Amino acid sequence: MTNMTVLAGGVGGARFTRGLLAHLRAVDPDSSVTVIANTGDDLWLTGLRVCPDLDSIMYTLGGANDDERGWGRMGESERVSAELTAYGVGWPWFTLGDLDLGTHIARSSWLRDGLPLSEATARLAARWNLGATLLPATDDEVETIVTVAGDESADIAIEDMHFEEWWVRLRASRPALAFTQRNASVARPAPGVLEAIATADVVLFAPSNPVVSIGTILGIPGIADAVRATSAPVIGVSPIIGGAVLRGMADACLSAIGVETSAVAVARHYGARRDGGLIDGWLVDEVDAEAASALHADGIRSSARPLWFSSVEETAAIAGDALSLANVPHSGR
Ligand code: GDP
Ligand code: CA
Repeated sequence: MTNMTVLAGGVGGARFTRGLLAHLRAVDPDSSVTVIANTGDDLWLTGLRVCPDLDSIMYTLGGANDDERGWGRMGESERVSAELTAYGVGWPWFTLGDLDLGTHIARSSWLRDGLPLSEATARLAARWNLGATLLPATDDEVETIVTVAGDESADIAIEDMHFEEWWVRLRASRPALAFTQRNASVARPAPGVLEAIATADVVLFAPSNPVVSIGTILGIPGIADAVRATSAPVIGVSPIIGGAVLRGMADACLSAIGVETSAVAVARHYGARRDGGLIDGWLVDEVDAEAASALHADGIRSSARPLWFSSVEETAAIAGDALSLANVPHSGR
C-alpha cells in the first residue's frame, strides 16, 4: 500500500492526477491518492462560492470535464449565465455554466449551513467516483490578489484585483507587480492536509502554476514546513518545457516573482530539501535534459522524458516516471 499526496492547481493538476491514477490502477491498485488543491482562485460570485481548481480536479477525475475546452462540464449550456448578465449580476466574462452552477449552489448551500469547505468538498466529491481524496488546502477564505501595473500614458493607475479578474478578464495582459494571499497569515491548513503530507510515501508537485497554484498552497502557514519535514521523497513535474509554459500564461506569474521561465529556474525556486527547500526530485522534458546534471549538483535528482500530456496513457507514463524518481518500489514492476 502506497500513499501518494499530490499538490495541485486546476487544469495541470487535474490532468496530472488523472494520469497518476491510471498508472496506479495498472501497477499498484491498493495505493491511495490524496490531492491537496489550491483555493487561492476561489471567490464569491453571484452570491455563490466558486472554487475553480477544486472543480477542475473533481470534474476531470470524475470523467465529467470538458477536455476540449480544458475546463468546466462536458455538454454544458449557459442559459442561467445569460439571465444573470441581463440583470447585470456577476462577471459577464467569467462564464458559469448551468451544470457548473449546480455545483456552486450545492457548495454554497452547505457553506451557509456552516459546514467547512473541506466537508462541502467531500460531499460534492461523493457523487463522483474520483478514486482519490480531494482536500482544499485550507477551509479559510484565502484569495490571491494581484497588484497590476498601471500605465501613465493611458492614465491607468496601479490597482489590486482578484486573481481571476487579472487572469480571465485581462488575460494577464497588464504586468503583475505582486501576488498577495489575502488572509493567509490567519489561515490554517484544512483537516487532513498536514497528515496527508506527513504520512505520505511520496509527495508529488503536479506541473501546476508554481506561483498562483503550488505557491498559494505552500503559502498557507504550516504546509511548506510539512513538506520540508516529511520523510517521504518530494518529487515535482516541470510545468515548463523548453522555456515556455504550456496551455497558460504562467510566465506572467513567474516574472512577477523574479523567476525565469525555465525548468531549472522553477526547480531552484522550490529548492532542494537537502538545503532547506521543498523538493528532492524534478522530472523535466527531454528538451530540458541538460537541466538534470545542473540540478544534480544542487541536490535535486532529475530525469528527462517527454512531458506533454497528450493522452491519459501518456500522462500515466509521465506519472510513473515521476514515481521512479522517488524510488518507490511497485508491485508489478
Ligand atoms: P490552472 O489552475 O487551471 O491554471 O492549472 P494549474 O496551475 O494546475 O496548471 C497550469 C500549468 O499546467 C501551466 O502553467 C502549464 O505549465 C502546466 N501544464 C499544462 N499542460 C501541461 C502538459 O501537458 N505537460 C506539463 N508538463 N505541464 C502542463
Ligand atoms: Ca487555478
